[in-house]
Amino acid sequence: MSAEKDLYAVLGASPSDSVQQLRHRYQQLALQYHPDRLGGSSEADSGVKKFLEADAAWRVLSDQNTRREYDLLRRAQELKQDWPVDSTVCLEDMTWDEDECGYAYGCRCGGGFSVSEEEVEEETQRRQQEEEEEQEAEGGVMVCCDTCSLSVCVTWSLHRKTQMLK
Ligand SMILES: [Zn+2]
Repeated sequence: MSAEKDLYAVLGASPSDSVQQLRHRYQQLALQYHPDRLGGSSEADSGVKKFLEADAAWRVLSDQNTRREYDLLRRAQELKQDWPVDSTVCLEDMTWDEDECGYAYGCRCGGGFSVSEEEVEEETQRRQQEEEEEQEAEGGVMVCCDTCSLSVCVTWSLHRKTQMLK
């Protein structure tokens, strides 16, 4: 078993999906690409390939033990790669979430980034201190998507934030 192929992506599922959700995805794909169904049509070859991929993915993910093993491999693989800073998100562009007491921003994978008010306050204080010491007051908070491995840097203008707090 290797983590090179993203088995969740093969099923069009996400790592946080329950086994029931994964089964549902697999069944949909199996129905869509089953060799018997496509017969001798021109789609048959790529269909068979997709069916076999989905079948192999489901075999690993349907079993609690092999799924856990795969998740660990996948996690290790992700940590090995340097997480690319895909983009910088301005705090002002994020949505304030009253219930979570934090800011939220949607990821392109359908998941989301979130940063708590506490983290923002801590980082603001840290930067204000640096500024008082006449250091470069650059910074921000790195946050990872709750679903994929993408991370972004959340930044905000120190002065605007200070004004906002008044
Ligand atoms: Zn994501």
